[in-house]
Amino acid sequence: MAALTLSGLTKRYGGTSQAALHRLDLSIASGSLTALLGPSGSGKTTTMKLIAGLIAPDAGDIRLGGRSIRDLAPERRGVAMVFQNPLLFPHLTVAGNVGFGLRMRGLPADRIASSVALMLSRVRLTGLGDRRPGQLSGGQQQRTALARALILRPDVLLLDEPLSNLDPSLRDEMRQLIRELHSETGITTLVVTHDQTEAVALADHVALLLDGRLAQAGPPETFYQRPATQAVARFFGGVNFIPGTARAGVFDSALGPLRLPAGIAEGAGLLTIRPEALRFGPGPNPLIARVEGVTFLGTQSRIDLLAGGVRLQALTDPDAASDLVRGSDVAVTLPPQALWVLPSAP
Ligand code: ADP
Repeated sequence: MAALTLSGLTKRYGGTSQAALHRLDLSIASGSLTALLGPSGSGKTTTMKLIAGLIAPDAGDIRLGGRSIRDLAPERRGVAMVFQNPLLFPHLTVAGNVGFGLRMRGLPADRIASSVALMLSRVRLTGLGDRRPGQLSGGQQQRTALARALILRPDVLLLDEPLSNLDPSLRDEMRQLIRELHSETGITTLVVTHDQTEAVALADHVALLLDGRLAQAGPPETFYQRPATQAVARFFGGVNFIPGTARAGVFDSALGPLRLPAGIAEGAGLLTIRPEALRFGPGPNPLIARVEGVTFLGTQSRIDLLAGGVRLQALTDPDAASDLVRGSDVAVTLPPQALWVLPSAP
């Protein structure tokens, strides 16, 4: 097990004006399961390739267990990467694919066979060792690739979008398997994903990249409760942003004075509350709002509201929404503990 530290990591591809990755500082604790999250083009794959040694940085360092691996060849880094497209050898069997790295290391055949059998059972492929990759489902191919990487006992495992090619029904299974393998092996694992719900369901730590820069890193809950910027809040589904000023525990805005939770910095900012945290009926920080629209979304309903000239959005149980009539006034409360103030957008 080893901690992975990226410092000032910068990559600019030839012929591009903007850096794909700009001075990334990120510490990944030894033995953690971290999600590297971000929209398409934010620099996730670039970060993974830099760690794996498939491309070289323009600046910065990559340290594993305290020593720089920046200038080491990929196979000498102790890093294994599983690509989104599993890239199995089509002419080898599943067992041949999984044991490939050990054969390259010159291990005796009986040791390879027993390690392969153990790995196949860990990824629930026992009995499929003699098949060819073409005879496997997408999920089975992915598990074969995972076994092929894990059998080498890397210090760091990099998984590139391991769930995105799978049917929704298989995603839960694969997510569960990744968590189990991680807790069994304790290997420092970094999973790339563009899906924030996937990231928070899978990882115990999340690093969000936006435009090639680290936007925020921390436990999953902090992205919902304490987003660092409006862009972070928006990426996690935040929609309510009200400009105003925080002073002496109260936020003054077009909505009138609202009581804040303790510990909010004073000064100009954007008040935010998650749509699912707005409440209907009486309570602290009460408002009267006009119902502008009710949209049934399946498991939730979206309520568009207008209060003091400010548009607000609430997500609620469809049953609770059935009483709300478009054009009518309704009592809304903004629970103080659900409020957070972001720095004003530059
Ligand atoms: P992500 O994995 O988050 O989708 P990438 O790391 O693949 O993002 O890409 C980050 C940025 O770098 C994007 O703007 C992308 O277009 C650019 N990029 C990636 N690979 C190359 C390349 N080989 N040549 C030029 N630009 C690239």
